[in-house]
Amino acid sequence: MQMKVWMCKKCGALIEKPTQPNATRCPSGGTHFWYTLGDGYITPHSGYTAWQCGKCGAVVYMKRMPNGGGCPAGGNHHWRRL
Ligand SMILES: [Zn+2]
Ligand SMILES: [Zn+2]
Repeated sequence: MQMKVWMCKKCGALIEKPTQPNATRCPSGGTHFWYTLGDGYITPHSGYTAWQCGKCGAVVYMKRMPNGGGCPAGGNHHWRRL
């Protein structure tokens, strides 16, 4: 199954999972609010490009630019290639 990267808009937690994660307890209060960044990984994989958000500092590994929505720093992520 294709792995997807998910980020909680509230606390910035990053996880890899093929399907939507459960809305378990978020350290920022209430439950996590997951956004998918797209197909990829949170650790380096051959053939995948490293992308970093200039706002929240998150680094993910994807073949294409990750999705913009749900930056924990507010608004959209600003992705650039590392
Ligand atoms: Zn959270
Ligand atoms: Zn961001």
